[in-house]
Amino acid sequence: MLEINLSALAHNYRYIRSKLNPNTKLLGVVKANGYGSESIAIAKKLESLGIDYLAVAYIQEGIILREEGVKVPILVLHPQVEQFNALISNCLEPSLYSIRTLEAFIRAAKGTENYPIHLKINTGLNRLGLSAQDFKAVFKLLGSEKSLHVKGLLSHLAASDDPLERAFTQRQINLFKDCIQIFESTLGPIEIKHLLNTSGILHYPEAQFQMARSGIGLYGYSNAVKTDAELRPVATLKCKISQIHELAPGDWVGYNKGFVAKEKMKIATLTIGHADGIGRQYGHGKGVVTIQGAAAPIIGNVCMDMIMVNLGNIVAKEGDVVVVFGGESSESLTAELFAKGAKTISYELLTGIGARVKRHIIV
Ligand SMILES: *Cc1c(COP(=O)(O)O)cnc(C)c1O
Repeated sequence: MLEINLSALAHNYRYIRSKLNPNTKLLGVVKANGYGSESIAIAKKLESLGIDYLAVAYIQEGIILREEGVKVPILVLHPQVEQFNALISNCLEPSLYSIRTLEAFIRAAKGTENYPIHLKINTGLNRLGLSAQDFKAVFKLLGSEKSLHVKGLLSHLAASDDPLERAFTQRQINLFKDCIQIFESTLGPIEIKHLLNTSGILHYPEAQFQMARSGIGLYGYSNAVKTDAELRPVATLKCKISQIHELAPGDWVGYNKGFVAKEKMKIATLTIGHADGIGRQYGHGKGVVTIQGAAAPIIGNVCMDMIMVNLGNIVAKEGDVVVVFGGESSESLTAELFAKGAKTISYELLTGIGARVKRHIIV
């Protein structure tokens, strides 16, 4: 079961807001099912808290929110041209990142008036975005176009969480400022310029422009130990002990004899596996769950539907609840620390939680 704590979300929302100027808008990123949690509940809670904007990656994700009655502006970060008509009929705002997507959007938006779009600039991430050599063509395309209006200009930082990359990030910020100048001197004032993600908000507050975009921070993580302590994890992954075994020295555990008991020991089989997002990289002790407040490392290979853990001295019984990660108690590992065990990041762990895991919303 994945518990989703909406009061933790509200706490994080207020914390992030407190880092912004009073008139800076805040966009909440709810892509990938709300970072693996439950995008509808998250979006509705953020809307009730007063979020200015939401963002998703793909058009289909935005349509789901509209169908559930979410009313705030929704930015689509990585829209695909085949669904531009659906984007328009659901009043979603596209982030257009190339000449190809801009041309296709102009065709799709024929007949509309002042349809709001955001233009994405590549300032160094080299993932999505227009480059300086595209600008002339952009201005030509937009020149006499009455069906669209450039509401936003955005870019994305590549290493806002890395203190060793401050000079690189500063170059991105400066380049974004130069681009704003070029765009505004050609197109006139643009209402919302936005650049920062969560780590950007925390480390480069001077570059917040008119809006900042927070994803991971709202879910309780910040890529920094100090600020993680100020945030509350929204998602807690729990499962159960379904069986306990006593092993004798020399007994093997799991597929391909992934673990061998060196001594007499107790192990527990848990109701979660790689199909639920706890991948094989967490096997062989890399993942550590919490049972009765104590650490129980995963032994051997992770199976599709189950994992086995070493109970050590833990006194537990079949049916007991296990905390895989999250939780507000200091006893269990946060998603950040759990992920670190397998050299990955909270983002990947959270967004990988499988559809089979029941979501339980705690208000
Ligand atoms: C996912 C994403 C964000 C959110 O980043 P966090 O680090 O989770 O705050 C912001 N902007 C863009 C373009 C993104 O793709």
